[in-house]
Amino acid sequence: MPVIDLRSDTVTQPTPGMREAMLTAQLGDDVYGEDPAVNALQQTLAERLGFAAALFVPTGTMSNLLGLMAHCERGDEYIVGQQAHTYKYEGGGAAVLGSIQPQPVEMDIDGSLDLDRVKAAIKANDFHFARTRLLALENTMQGKVLPLEYLAAARAFTEQHGLALHLDGARLFNASVRLGVSPTEIARHFDSVSVCLSKGLGAPVGSVLCGSEALIDKARRWRKVLGGGMRQAGILAAAGMYALDHQVERLAEDHANAQRLGQGLSEHGWAVEPVQTNMVYVQVGEHAQALQQYAAARQIRLTAAPRMRLVTHLDVGAADIVKVIDLFKAFRIEKN
Ligand SMILES: *Cc1c(COP(=O)(O)O)cnc(C)c1O
Repeated sequence: MPVIDLRSDTVTQPTPGMREAMLTAQLGDDVYGEDPAVNALQQTLAERLGFAAALFVPTGTMSNLLGLMAHCERGDEYIVGQQAHTYKYEGGGAAVLGSIQPQPVEMDIDGSLDLDRVKAAIKANDFHFARTRLLALENTMQGKVLPLEYLAAARAFTEQHGLALHLDGARLFNASVRLGVSPTEIARHFDSVSVCLSKGLGAPVGSVLCGSEALIDKARRWRKVLGGGMRQAGILAAAGMYALDHQVERLAEDHANAQRLGQGLSEHGWAVEPVQTNMVYVQVGEHAQALQQYAAARQIRLTAAPRMRLVTHLDVGAADIVKVIDLFKAFRIEKN
């Protein structure tokens, strides 16, 4: 019986078409800048997001770190959401490896950072303080899409205050598909954008940082320093390119499946947060462990957390959603 894995959209297997694209990719040494597949991917994504340049890297963590290190020097500071991936889930890399001080601020429920709160966190030009250089946002943030008007306001704000603006766009394409806009409509507000190919897009490995030529030159240097200079990396970039060509529009299916799942769970009495993209957050409270084990025994994999995150992706079909709803329903009956 096949497993239904809702822990993350990182668990996808490369599709047959993707594997074929990897097998037939033209390769070269990317540290010399000679890998045709890497160059094609970088150029394609830069164009699609409206940037001059792009850099292929192993992970989103590295891509964000390179973005921060390209914008900020030692002793600089970036302002970031308290729950943001670049702050909370990347091992403190900006501070540990980049000598960049994070200034976290509370996030609003929609995933945005209140700009008055950000303004209050900007430090005066005074040698007592780190130099505030950058604001980092995340979109989607826990499955939520930042409104385009907010992005425009954040852009105007950072220009007014002389800050750069970085986007952790690990799931940028989920946001653009959900809004029904071109990804440039989101990316154009930012000085740099990091995109993950290994989340909903379904590639096995890889992220891309996009920005100006000068920013990407700096990032390329730091990529080598961090040990991220890969050689015949085109075998991986080919998977990313395949994903961009064939697996973007289908994100709408993941969103529809997440909607159905959220709907089904709430019909059976579970408290579900409004669903926007491919993530369903459901309150399971004290039942997290029991539910996870109950599901595991039935070939369904969940992350045990009181506020449980269920993630749809290309290896979860509409029929699987029905099974998951039935599972939650049965669990509820059994525990009562
Ligand atoms: C997954 C993720 C990253 C980091 O990607 P890795 O490839 O796992 O290092 C960054 N930001 C967000 C929002 C993510 O979900």
